[in-house]
Amino acid sequence: MSVESMDHAPTSFPSHRLSIVVPMYNEVDNVEPFVTAVHEALDSYPHPWELIIVNDGSRDGTQQALDKQAQLRGPHVRPIHLWRNFRQTAAMQAGIDAARGDVIVTLDGDLQNDPKDIPSLVDKLLKDDLDLVAGWRQNRQDAFILRKIPSRIANRLIRRITGLEFQDLGCSLKAYRADVLKRVRLYGEMHRFIPAWMATVTSPARMSEVPVSHHARTAGESKYGISRTLRVVLDLLAVNFFLRFAGRPGHFFGGMGLGVGLVGTLILSYLGVLKLLGESIGGRPLLWLGFFCVLGGLQFLTTGVLAELLIRIYYDRGDVAPYHTSHTAPTSDADSWHRR
Ligand code: UDP
Ligand code: MG
Repeated sequence: MSVESMDHAPTSFPSHRLSIVVPMYNEVDNVEPFVTAVHEALDSYPHPWELIIVNDGSRDGTQQALDKQAQLRGPHVRPIHLWRNFRQTAAMQAGIDAARGDVIVTLDGDLQNDPKDIPSLVDKLLKDDLDLVAGWRQNRQDAFILRKIPSRIANRLIRRITGLEFQDLGCSLKAYRADVLKRVRLYGEMHRFIPAWMATVTSPARMSEVPVSHHARTAGESKYGISRTLRVVLDLLAVNFFLRFAGRPGHFFGGMGLGVGLVGTLILSYLGVLKLLGESIGGRPLLWLGFFCVLGGLQFLTTGVLAELLIRIYYDRGDVAPYHTSHTAPTSDADSWHRR
């Protein structure tokens, strides 16, 4: 499907309410153009929508610019001001928590994502009865070495770990069923790996990807450099670890504990036999190794017990299930929606 052919796809059914969630950090020059672009893109959108912009502790007048837009445009523009910079993932989670729609669309507030793509994503989500539709940036306009290469590696790794066939996990522009998205909690830099997390509460078959446009930044600057790329890599390892071992962490740590402990026990037994035969074993490095292995094995075992307890609490929350059940009914009607 070409990107052009998806623009302005008719979004006529089924009936829903749409919450658009956008994080903004020091984007003062983008506020007005972005809010305008969203209104233009959704000018003839046939369903109620709201625009939630989370000001992530900006210090450049983004707050005032957002409040002004809310005043000018009406209560469907809902700024949320965080008192300091909590970073993009936390800002997105704050917006998701505040979203009242049945469908949530997230995108960046710097116009690198194109609001014109919103209707086609929602259309695909609802017509194909999916839980997530991700944008796949065509002609991604970002630095090659620092941004594109790490994200290619991350995409490939996640594909291997999860079996999810996503080409571009890191694209912020995505559409979700609100009730499914609200079952996962995001932290760290995890907004990049939402499809991987969603796979813990719904089937990968209910997620899909469509091509979207991507533009270079025209105002403000990117908040991501080498240090954030490193954090993303660490979070990728965390996702990897969780998805691999969330099933039975006790088995993983228990296996390590038993293995290392067994080595330690064998070493100490061997030295014990030597001692019985009358040899001096006091100063041997092997003695230390034996002790360390036994202690290390015990450590792994206790970590395994703790991990089992934690994962039990995680699944006992009740809203995490390794299968998809059904969608909740639309929430009750309320004011402050944009209606055509
Ligand atoms: N952002 C945010 N908090 C942060 C960093 C970024 O809310 O700490 C927002 C930012 O204003 C933008 C989006 O997240 O709307 C993506 O950030 P950016 O454009 O810097 O990322 P890039 O496009 O370079 O990946
Ligand atoms: Mg950007």
